[in-house]
Amino acid sequence: MNIILNGASGCGKGSMAGFLTRDFGLVHISTGDLFREQIAKQTPLGKKVESYVSTGKWVPDEVTIEVLLDRIKQPDCAKGVILDGFPRTLNQAIALDKVLDIDLVIAIDVTDEIVQTRLGGRYMCRQCGTIHAARWDKIDKCKKCGGELYQRDDDKAEFIQKRLENFKKNNGEILDFYREKDKLFIVHDKLENTPADTYALVKDVVAKL
Ligand code: ADP
Ligand code: ZN
Repeated sequence: MNIILNGASGCGKGSMAGFLTRDFGLVHISTGDLFREQIAKQTPLGKKVESYVSTGKWVPDEVTIEVLLDRIKQPDCAKGVILDGFPRTLNQAIALDKVLDIDLVIAIDVTDEIVQTRLGGRYMCRQCGTIHAARWDKIDKCKKCGGELYQRDDDKAEFIQKRLENFKKNNGEILDFYREKDKLFIVHDKLENTPADTYALVKDVVAKL
């Protein structure tokens, strides 16, 4: 079973992917995480993508597609994958379509207000990468490992709007692409929803596959 999680930055794709990994044994693949790993290690790829990722610009298709296609060739992906943050352009969707059967695309539909609120309060653990809603939970250490929390450069207000605009410009044609294949399921999220509320809707759909 291969699933795509689609939605603007901050819509909770990462949390949904975590729940789905736990309940259905799928492998979570986030292109953002793959890039951040390479940047942390300062590999040639990491150096190439750093200026994009740190300012919330998208990495060019040819680089992103190569990274993702390499990753899904790894043996662990045979059990099925959850793609988080890919595809973000129609080109990426078409490249993926040639090599992997997608069973379902879950699109989490959020308002701009939700994105601004959630991303602005989002902090990540330097040690284990877990994301926390630190500003609301009033914590300053990772709840999982005690690591230091930091705000990603691209989560600063000036970059959030740019990512959101980019997303809106591209996402319509991606959704159309999967709607035509009858693979699309849209979840309408609300500001007051917790990740568990949203996941209840998502789990239902996946369990029926
Ligand atoms: P978010 O979901 O908050 O936007 P991600 O962790 O998914 O963050 O991605 C972080 C950054 O990695 C993006 O802003 C972009 O620079 C790069 N990136 C991730 N996925 C893609 C993609 N599919 N296409 C182009 N760039 C990507
Ligand atoms: Zn941690």
